[in-house]
Amino acid sequence: MALSTSLIDSLEGYTRDKYELRLDKSKITRLFTSMRPAYTEAEEYFVQKYLMCDEMVAMGMYQDGYGNCLFKIPNEDGSPSRTLWSCHTDSVHREGGVQTVHYDPLTDKFSTPDGSCLGGDDNSGTYIMLELMRNNVPGLYIYHRAEEVGGVGSAWIAKNSVEMLHQYDRAIAFDRKDVHSIITHQGSKRCCSEAFSADLSEKLGMNHRSDSGGSFTDTANYDHIIPECTNMSVGYFNAHSARETQLLDYLWKLKDAFVRIDCEALVTERDAQAPVEWSMSGYYGYGDSLIKPHKEARTAMGWSKQDDIKWRQDKKAKKEEDKKAKKEEEGITTEDLVAIIPEDDFGPKSKKSTKYDEDSPDWDDFFMQQTD
Ligand SMILES: [Zn+2]
Repeated sequence: MALSTSLIDSLEGYTRDKYELRLDKSKITRLFTSMRPAYTEAEEYFVQKYLMCDEMVAMGMYQDGYGNCLFKIPNEDGSPSRTLWSCHTDSVHREGGVQTVHYDPLTDKFSTPDGSCLGGDDNSGTYIMLELMRNNVPGLYIYHRAEEVGGVGSAWIAKNSVEMLHQYDRAIAFDRKDVHSIITHQGSKRCCSEAFSADLSEKLGMNHRSDSGGSFTDTANYDHIIPECTNMSVGYFNAHSARETQLLDYLWKLKDAFVRIDCEALVTERDAQAPVEWSMSGYYGYGDSLIKPHKEARTAMGWSKQDDIKWRQDKKAKKEEDKKAKKEEEGITTEDLVAIIPEDDFGPKSKKSTKYDEDSPDWDDFFMQQTD
């Protein structure tokens, strides 16, 4: 019996999707192997080799006076794009080098086998931006330097490239944990409108929602210049810790969604010059960002003694909760796992090293071989 055309089509589609997912999984793994704290040789090496390599420079990648890497793609009709894409090149590892990364197909999660930080923050943002570039999505791409040490690269741009920033209506960062957030506030300060968030969520069609609990990423430094500044969930959890994980499927789908939608048509409603709009809801909101609001924010919102007591109670409860969760996790020891899992399933043994030069995998064709 011959298979119907539609069945063959859907099987082919399925195979193609699986193939592409595998290809992207290997690209993501390659990025995750690199540990690169700000101002280290490893971070500079990454930037020079993969962002400022000859091929990228020939296509238009350039560095500003601070060292941020920028790349512009105009709209299809040749007009300049009014979208700014943002990620950062540095990670929070203790030292620069390479590490082993493990992917578990059962949980769909990347992690490290040796208790060091994974670096989904912000390799995942870096991956999405490279893929959007590869798919010719219009925008100004900024690979910020030194985000983890206080947003130094973006602060430099906000100070020295104001005219450039004025040419954009929206700045979208890929640097947020979890899978549902469109950040509307950073450090309790409004950075994008609800209308923008709703429009973006609807276009993406992945059940994202407004999240006022953002702490800080580079786009916060542009919120007084660019009307709609946000930060998107990229699917990492427990960033900056040994327990950090990254979801593959979500990251892959998010990238696809951003390739598909037209960000130039997104609603722009917020006035970047309007007085600062504060919100405390984020810090109570999802329970895991119990950072005391900025003093400026507390004053503006009339933060009372009761608020302070409640904040301290919440913080204490949260600490207890974290402790409990960690204990539960530690309940299963490595020995327990070894006893039940066949050795091959553990993946490669850790090869953590500070020698990033000789030992790093050869990524030379990382961007170039990926033609459609
Ligand atoms: Zn980050």
